[in-house]
Amino acid sequence: MSLRGVMAPLPVLSRRKFLQTAALGSAGVLVPRAKGDSLYRSVLGASDQAAPLQEFGYGDVTISSPLHEQQLEETHAVLMGLSDDSLLKPFRAMIGQPAPGEDLGGWYRYDPNYDWRTFDAGFAPSATFGQWVSALARYYAITGSEAARDKVLRLNRLYAGVIAGEFYEKNRFPAYCFDKLVCGLIDSQKYVGDPDAFAILQKTTHAALPHLPAKAVEHGTSWRPGKDESWTWDESYTMPENLFLAYQRGAGERYRALAQQYLNEPFFERLANGENDLAGRHAYSHVNCLCSAMQAYLTLGSEKYLRAASNGFDMLVSQSFATGGWGPDEILRKTSSSDVFDSLTKTHSSFETPCGSYAHFKLTRYLLRVTRDAAYGDSMERVMYNTILGAKPLQADGRSFYYSDYNFAGKKVYSAHRWPCCSGTMPQIAADYGISSYLRDSRGVYVNLYIPSTVRWMQDGAQVSLQQQGEYPFDAHVQIEIAASKPIEFGVNLRIPSWAEQASVSVNRKREAVAAGGFATVQRRWKNGDRIDVELPLAARLESIDPRHANTVALMSGPLVLFAIADSNPSVTRSQLLVAKKRDGNSWQVESAAGAFQMLPFMEIREQQYATYLRVS
Ligand SMILES: [Zn+2]
Repeated sequence: MSLRGVMAPLPVLSRRKFLQTAALGSAGVLVPRAKGDSLYRSVLGASDQAAPLQEFGYGDVTISSPLHEQQLEETHAVLMGLSDDSLLKPFRAMIGQPAPGEDLGGWYRYDPNYDWRTFDAGFAPSATFGQWVSALARYYAITGSEAARDKVLRLNRLYAGVIAGEFYEKNRFPAYCFDKLVCGLIDSQKYVGDPDAFAILQKTTHAALPHLPAKAVEHGTSWRPGKDESWTWDESYTMPENLFLAYQRGAGERYRALAQQYLNEPFFERLANGENDLAGRHAYSHVNCLCSAMQAYLTLGSEKYLRAASNGFDMLVSQSFATGGWGPDEILRKTSSSDVFDSLTKTHSSFETPCGSYAHFKLTRYLLRVTRDAAYGDSMERVMYNTILGAKPLQADGRSFYYSDYNFAGKKVYSAHRWPCCSGTMPQIAADYGISSYLRDSRGVYVNLYIPSTVRWMQDGAQVSLQQQGEYPFDAHVQIEIAASKPIEFGVNLRIPSWAEQASVSVNRKREAVAAGGFATVQRRWKNGDRIDVELPLAARLESIDPRHANTVALMSGPLVLFAIADSNPSVTRSQLLVAKKRDGNSWQVESAAGAFQMLPFMEIREQQYATYLRVS
């Protein structure tokens, strides 16, 4: 959600990328997947492979990485600790019902005398309610926790008693809130099996529609007469994604029509034509908007929407930080400008991390499913390790991590605002690591993220599981073990990141080199106990912030950005950075002429000042 209303659109040219698709090798043969490899072909022409990869169920994947697990459990504990009355309080107060219970405060509070210029308590009453219900439903799907299920069912029934148009009339973000409520209800239906979810959704839609704009309205455009600019920051252009999902999950034809009604057609037209229309737009919500384009493609089949999302993603990457984050001060930037470089000294609000990561995960997962291009997985992995996984934990009093700070003098801090938008997306993304790690088609499984975890599925009548172990990305080696109830043939498609030169895959200790940048497919008859070893050499490399500032660089080790821990920017050379020594405890040391300094991945930074980029000589 935006803290600002500043807009200055300036379209520029886009970078076009090939849509690529996987090809399966013959039995027992590793198929290296290099750029320019003749096995690549357009996804749109490939008949048997045009169907998107499928997601696994939340319960099919068990994550055993302590860092990922801790984020899921910590955020879940905060949600479980919120009282039902507190969660319902703004809804009730806004429609004149008795509203007992403690006021959560922060953005969640309803204050009829709210002053938007402070962006403080009362900015977006109840805006995160639907996301929290969604996260609780996903948590139940992962863990089977009865307490989570009971809370979802209870909250939906209490919420059904407060549905009214007044909520939307008094709300600066009617479309935003409706979008999140739709998400919570369709997730309650799908993952918890709430038998009333669609009826409550119908009632919600009936109450909301008279108070929504007639079509997608751009950020900063006035559509409610007599209201100040703070009433123009709603995000109606993000709604189609969840409305299409409601339709797909059986909520009714009405939701497909509504989704189409809110498609941001002029924006998608320009992106589909390769026109870079991102500059000046609010960052997170427009990445969500690209997710709506992907759902439009998946539901309606029009390639225009795929082109819009794919081109839009390329335009986003071309203005991203080495961490994978984007949108300093929540604004998308002009490609080939100095805006992103300038942000290193001008702001500490570099990347809206929980919301931005959540949208980035969804968009790259959609694009990966449709195109089978491993580059989307590379991008998701970057965002995971360098941004969201290092977010400070959500606190019971609403303190939330909001912005990653890439300023030359960076700090990891909580937002000044309690219960902001990012407290809504944090529990959702924490629940989504599992379904983002693996995808499948009828021929086998795709390993997208290397996280200690297990995925289980049925393959042609056999019960199969694949278990990953290892210290990656702190170590180059990932070990995978297959279990199968009977010998069975299928493909294991392993993402080989584009930076992983000299990568190799071994099956039962028989090693073959694979090309960086694509999926390596191992197609064979698998039996219980078969073992795959993946080596992804973590060579150090430098990435400059943009071509015009080639001496302002981030040090990378595999997918990790290493952040310099120092109170003032150390004077250092390229070659000194490139020979940074890894020490114990996931820490690196650099020897410069002025002395040694430490470099850490984002997850390991606590209170220290750090620099994401260094000026090298
Ligand atoms: Zn946010």
